[in-house]
Amino acid sequence: MTARVVTVRRKEQLGWAQRTYLPAILKGLATTSRVFFRNLGGWLSGKPTAFVVQYPEERVDHPDAFRGMPVLVQLENGLPKCVACGLCEFACPTDCISIVPGELPEHGIERWPTAFDIDMSRCMFCGLCEEACPEEAIVMSRQVELAGFDRASMLYEKADLLVPENLLERRLGFLRSEYDRKHAKLPARAPGA
Ligand code: SF4
Ligand code: SF4
Repeated sequence: MTARVVTVRRKEQLGWAQRTYLPAILKGLATTSRVFFRNLGGWLSGKPTAFVVQYPEERVDHPDAFRGMPVLVQLENGLPKCVACGLCEFACPTDCISIVPGELPEHGIERWPTAFDIDMSRCMFCGLCEEACPEEAIVMSRQVELAGFDRASMLYEKADLLVPENLLERRLGFLRSEYDRKHAKLPARAPGA
């Protein structure tokens, strides 16, 4: 496909009217007024013409593909699903995940995250940690309301990151359907290959 080259012609010399900026100002005011009165009419007639959310009283139900802050899946027994393999830490492009692996002999667990921190001031919600995880133990949530007065308060520890698995069902379902969709496209392997 050849690219279409568009040559934009610009006037070298501006006329006196353009130099006053008045035509552009009037044009801008006309557009603003048109939209204002259209929306006012819609509001008065009970048929809103603009999509407005009365935040924070109202919240948008983000689609399942939405990527908010990453969180850790918490099992029914209260423990994280994470096995501290470190793949998410390795995949993270901003290096904001820190994991300290350890053992949990009283639960018969050979490897779990003794500590799991994410520096949210550096996280860019890219979702690579979620993609790298072989255990569905870290997923992107719908939480985007993160604020702090300093960088230290943006360091989320394991307890801050744990979310019960049943509250993440929609995201987990979406991930599984995406996995099925992608793998359905792969060509079938020849026998013995
Ligand atoms: S979402 Fe991206 S930047 Fe944030 S922790 Fe995961 S991999 Fe790192
Ligand atoms: S990739 Fe998954 S299982 Fe491995 S350390 Fe990260 S969250 Fe835990």
